[in-house]
Amino acid sequence: MLFSNLNRNLFFNRLTSEQFDLLVIGGGITGCGIALDAALKGMKVALVEKNDFAFGTSSRSTKLIHGGLRYLKQLELKLVRDVGTERAVVHRNARHLVIPEKMLLPIVQAGTLGELSTSAALLVYDLLAGVKRSEWRTMLNKHETLKAEPLLAGENLLGGGMYFEYRTDDSRLTIEIAKRAAEQGALLLNYIQAEDFIYENGKIFGAKLTDKHTGKSCTIRASTVVNACGPWVDLLRKKDQSLKGKRLQLTKGVHIVFPHSKLPIQQAVYFDVSDGRMIFAIPRSGITYVGTTDTVYNQDIDQPVCTKEDVEYLLAATNKMFSGVHLSMTDVESSWAGLRPLIHEDGKSPSELSRKDEVIVSENGLISIAGGKLTGYRLMAQKTVAIVQQQLGKNFNNTSTKGVQLSGGKFDSEEEFQREKGRMTDYAKTLGINQNLAEEWFYRYGSNMPLLLQNAERLLTGNPASDIVQLAEWQYAIEHEMVLHPTDFLMRRSGKLFFQHRASHQLIPELSKFIAHHLHLNEHQKNLMQTETMAAYQNSVTFN
Ligand code: FAD
Repeated sequence: MLFSNLNRNLFFNRLTSEQFDLLVIGGGITGCGIALDAALKGMKVALVEKNDFAFGTSSRSTKLIHGGLRYLKQLELKLVRDVGTERAVVHRNARHLVIPEKMLLPIVQAGTLGELSTSAALLVYDLLAGVKRSEWRTMLNKHETLKAEPLLAGENLLGGGMYFEYRTDDSRLTIEIAKRAAEQGALLLNYIQAEDFIYENGKIFGAKLTDKHTGKSCTIRASTVVNACGPWVDLLRKKDQSLKGKRLQLTKGVHIVFPHSKLPIQQAVYFDVSDGRMIFAIPRSGITYVGTTDTVYNQDIDQPVCTKEDVEYLLAATNKMFSGVHLSMTDVESSWAGLRPLIHEDGKSPSELSRKDEVIVSENGLISIAGGKLTGYRLMAQKTVAIVQQQLGKNFNNTSTKGVQLSGGKFDSEEEFQREKGRMTDYAKTLGINQNLAEEWFYRYGSNMPLLLQNAERLLTGNPASDIVQLAEWQYAIEHEMVLHPTDFLMRRSGKLFFQHRASHQLIPELSKFIAHHLHLNEHQKNLMQTETMAAYQNSVTFN
């Protein structure tokens, strides 16, 4: 099992006893992308993550693989082209997780864009981003816009533009990249914190680590080190005594989740707010989520929370845009808050700061990367690994990740994807798994779904039918997805804590017991995990 905490001791021993070409610190999408790129090129790679994979910004985004429309407004044309082209690549490599979805852009009186400018902007966007013809924008008059989304408030509405965004599940995308990197030989471990660096002849040569699960400390030796710590990047630059020049400016963005019945929109909408910003309302299996805010953040990086003020801002904007909708604080079923690791620019407001990525190399050789988007993770990885290779001064193969299907994404065409979906959901039915759940699994696990079905089949004897699906999924999470805490599964492998909030609460005691039993944890550890999970559950609905 290449990606399982059942092998934690073995992995930890390898971390401490072997020497690596590259140590990546940070298991968000940026770090995991770098680990995959480097491992594919033949480097010996280790990655450590101080919490769980995707614990940081990579599980707290709007969950869209953008074509980059918002950058058009800031005239970042190259960025629009890069992310647009890249979106198609990410879709091809993870068809189960990156799914085209129509997005409605209502045009309102005194809004950011008028009818002509929206039409022109969306066309420029389609052309620049290389959007395929079948997904080019369509402009709608007021009547057509209301037909597409009857819930829109009609008074100020002039019309709309319909274009395509791709929705994703950010933390699952990160996990599938991590799993693919492990398949390629990289050693990735969660709950390992980098505390400080070690140096040899004035150059960085590894790091001091703490295993947060056992409390053990160790040292890892690596010829190159990449700091992919997202919002925490500057903390590690400080440890390297190299925090000078460019610095991060963190901005917070929150999302709130309603039951779909409270905001029953028919499709995703990207709409204007009176302060000149724009926010998304996105329906997704039984819920609708709305976000995001964009405010300067200077507090605890480990615990960004959604405040009462954040919720009020989003509620006011949503109630104004949709008629007959009177959402209030008590309708919010869950929430998440994330931090954008942006590069500080004097005199710019949070929304004006560039989302471009930036690589900074210290005199000691520490390579730090921050900024960027989920969408551009592969290009960021490519750029960073080129610097790693330069520092190593050795030849590696030049394999590109462009055509590399991620774990769960092993489908060669859309036809094959649809065929496999039919085949696997049909087979699931023979095991008593209903169509909805089978599809949920297919879009979560893609081409890995047969492993879950095998688990379910094995569990058929000796377990009540109602438990089989749950147990099969938990077993997969432990054996193949590096789950160590219940929050790993509920927040970042399945998203249930956000999207099936109430049901997830009931799972906490059983799931804690299951994990403790399979990973041989003692009663004290189990109780701690259970308390931690209850707290995470509460946090997502507490707004101060
Ligand atoms: P992170 O995901 O934060 O990963 C850094 C990791 O480093 C963390 O997991 C952390 O625990 C770990 N770490 C920190 N310190 C240490 C240490 N000492 N030792 C070990 N590990 C450590 N992009 C899009 O493309 N589409 C979107 O829809 C979108 N929406 C967004 C909405 C919001 C509100 C925000 C905030 C961002 C959004 N983004 C979006 C941007 C995107 O989410 C980020 O660019 C991306 O997730 C950053 O990933 P990362 O790996 O660099 O950082």
